[in-house]
Amino acid sequence: MTDVTMDKIVSLSRRRGFVFPSSEIYGGMGSTYDYGHYGVLMKNNIRSLWFRAMVQERDDIVALDSAIILNPRVWEASGHVGGFTDPLVDCRTCKLRFRADQLDQSSCGRKPSKRPGETADCDLTDARQFNLMFKTQVGALEDESSTAYLRPETAQGIFVNFKNVLQLARRKPPFGIAQVGKSFRNEITPGNFLFRVREFEQMEMEFFVPPADAERWYRYWVDARFDWYLKYGVRESMLRKREHGEEERSHYSSGTTDIEYLYPIGWSELEGVANRGDFDLTQHTQHSGTKLEFVGEGDERYTPYVIEPAVSIERIFVAMLVDGYDEEVVAERDRTVLRLHPAVAPVKAAILPLIPKNGEMVEKARGLHEELRKKHVVEYDDGGQIGRRYRRQDEIGTPFAFTVDDQTLEDDTVTVRDRDSLAQERLPIGGVAAWLEEALARPWRTPKA
Ligand code: ATP
Repeated sequence: MTDVTMDKIVSLSRRRGFVFPSSEIYGGMGSTYDYGHYGVLMKNNIRSLWFRAMVQERDDIVALDSAIILNPRVWEASGHVGGFTDPLVDCRTCKLRFRADQLDQSSCGRKPSKRPGETADCDLTDARQFNLMFKTQVGALEDESSTAYLRPETAQGIFVNFKNVLQLARRKPPFGIAQVGKSFRNEITPGNFLFRVREFEQMEMEFFVPPADAERWYRYWVDARFDWYLKYGVRESMLRKREHGEEERSHYSSGTTDIEYLYPIGWSELEGVANRGDFDLTQHTQHSGTKLEFVGEGDERYTPYVIEPAVSIERIFVAMLVDGYDEEVVAERDRTVLRLHPAVAPVKAAILPLIPKNGEMVEKARGLHEELRKKHVVEYDDGGQIGRRYRRQDEIGTPFAFTVDDQTLEDDTVTVRDRDSLAQERLPIGGVAAWLEEALARPWRTPKA
């Protein structure tokens, strides 16, 4: 079995243009990343598969896109100004800062093989609370009154729009509001590639339910979200559900389950599903003076409970790269391959003329490329030896490659090569588009153990 380390994932991402360290020509920006072409395509796929499951395929969830900078009172009401903190310790010797609750995962500034506090030179301060929200100023005046925050979660933008959606989208509980967008957290110790970054794209859905049904819906969403990962090919052996104990739960939560993935750093939170009760709507009702409740027929009137599945594209992106990464030896040559679900793969098919100098082959391949790109992201490649071109496509996870060769010029058939099995078959060139459509719609399971 391939040993998948974070270094291998970072190196492949870099080598194939999925992800670059940000501001690299200025020395980088510590744990901040930019996405290249294939990274953007893969992120787009993850986002749209989530949106599809949440909104497109359901009648009871609507979409929202709220602002990143909200009225700062939102964050007072939500508890973030007072309590969105992590415990921080400083080392007076090496001047580094660490999360007090994660010392066992951090390295001493002077002796990286040791944990902070483990050497005689370490001189750690007591832990103090550090607020993770990024502060900014809005407008030209720089004083207290202009202080605002970059949102640390997208959820609050949903709660403050509860009344708008209830009225205008004509919904009644159970119904949900889904939102995707950037969130910002001034993490004390970001790291492990994209797993913990300061700027990430969150996908959150707040599902409003009658209080008596909250527990049932909470269980429903834990299972639904778990199954979503299986549907897109993540191995079940690499996933688990972990319910928080009472001491671990956030102040607002009356039940939280993490869907964890076995990342190279160990089992860690991929997605969280929380029963937030009526905490948020009640807080915003008190702070804003606007009643956020559901008023039904007769004397029916209540503050809905909220079930929230929350995840970042970054954590899914890393989990899927780790899950897909594979190395094998084929015909005495090493092959690295990303066994991504076809729906997640950045490029769906490659179109390759076997001999790039052969004008007829190029023309046929170009024609096929033009036809296929109308529906899918496909790639034409005539650079270099065919073996090298296949390997490039393997490393970016392209599930199928169509090759135009000598026989194509005789009988108008092409070979199709399957990324996972390496099986090849011949197809009439005119039938490729339909074949690809059907192949992409087939259920897919990873051949990885
Ligand atoms: P952690 O305990 O790992 O800091 P959290 O419990 O604070 O995470 P939540 O507030 O529940 O995280 O955020 C919901 C989801 O947002 C997480 O499950 C994760 O997928 C994602 N997320 C949170 N913080 C980050 C981050 N710094 N970088 C990338 N994704 C993040």
